[in-house]
Amino acid sequence: MDPKTEEVNTQNDQPKLQSRCRFCGTALRHTFVDLGKSPLCESFLAPEQLNQMEPFYPLHVYVCDRCFLVQLEEYVGPGHIFAEYAYFSSYSGALLENARSYTNSAVERFQLDGQSQVVEIASNDGYLLQYFVEKKIPALGIEPAANVAKVAIEQGLPTLIEFFGSGLARRLAAEGKQADLLIGNNVLAQVPALNDFVEGMKTLLKSQGVITMEFPHLMCLIEGNQFDTIYHEHFSYFSFTTAEQIFAAHRLTIFDLDEITTHGGSLRIYACHAEDSSKSTSERVTAMRMREKEAGLTSMAYYSSFAEQVKETKRKLLDLLIQAKREGKSIAGYGAPGKGNTLLNYCGIRTDFIDYTVDRNPYKHGKFLPGTHIPIYPPDKIKETQPDYVLILPWNLREEIMAQLSYIRDWGGQFLVPIPEARLYS
Ligand SMILES: [Zn+2]
Repeated sequence: MDPKTEEVNTQNDQPKLQSRCRFCGTALRHTFVDLGKSPLCESFLAPEQLNQMEPFYPLHVYVCDRCFLVQLEEYVGPGHIFAEYAYFSSYSGALLENARSYTNSAVERFQLDGQSQVVEIASNDGYLLQYFVEKKIPALGIEPAANVAKVAIEQGLPTLIEFFGSGLARRLAAEGKQADLLIGNNVLAQVPALNDFVEGMKTLLKSQGVITMEFPHLMCLIEGNQFDTIYHEHFSYFSFTTAEQIFAAHRLTIFDLDEITTHGGSLRIYACHAEDSSKSTSERVTAMRMREKEAGLTSMAYYSSFAEQVKETKRKLLDLLIQAKREGKSIAGYGAPGKGNTLLNYCGIRTDFIDYTVDRNPYKHGKFLPGTHIPIYPPDKIKETQPDYVLILPWNLREEIMAQLSYIRDWGGQFLVPIPEARLYS
């Protein structure tokens, strides 16, 4: 049997599987939020699939009462989810700009040069590593999704098409390949075997090396109503305090952090070996620990009100959409991100509200959103049909998108942003 699950006998003797925390092993008893069932958010449908059966999986999120790790059971294995991933990082201008400025500051702060080794886990299409290669710093990407990894390889960025874990880390270390800078952006949430992954980072890091990781900040998720960032690909949701415990369990110390705006509010943490005394701990670390404690992230009461907050967010969005349709307005979507699929499926928004959505990624054109079957077109469709409202699904890129689409004001179009609560922008 899977060691993370145990058999629990209920009164009528029906065997039931109870999950355990993927970090500390405590049985999970407390619901954080239950978003019902949803299809996998990256399984876009081709026209010939529309009449076929579509698998839906639960989006029931728990919080561990011992370490406060917020987590989703592994309903679907990562092999199934990530084998062909439709998300190409290079299609977002804001992410590219962040990648460039991160590279500049990391190279300067950690004095990286032609003798250094940079390794990025979940390197996607090489959108970040390209800036290190530009500076002639040796870089290696690790990316399990073959289709996006190929794009990086074609551009001359060495990339291993593999899942990262302690096994791969030991193999690379045995080949003499360890990292001066080990990067993992938006990957920690996507790892079901969390302890094996962090142990692998410990192994792959040189004795004085630095790990930087970015992940969405649970405090922002809760305070900003960002329930749509919950989907099957995201197994875990971290506060700073919980992340620090997980790293410490693998003899890694978080010595600094940045708060960044990516994905509605993320943390970038800097970690080193616990045995490495060459780095001093920033006061930002102690300040964040205090802030989370004062906000309540180390007590269960804080987590219990989120479910009701989510329901109210749904009611507000539906109110606005129903009113718009009663007034005879047309609504188009912008974007086809993972978070959009959680939002649309949970709220029950289909082509009864949204005529279509558009996306810059040509991979998605001519396909349909999973579950809701909303068709996806190239962005020019908005100019052709002149909708009254454009619902911005990747609300974290709201300002970038509103600037790109400012022309909808020519016909009196307005932007509708669903999160943190439904609001119109004219
Ligand atoms: Zn736990």
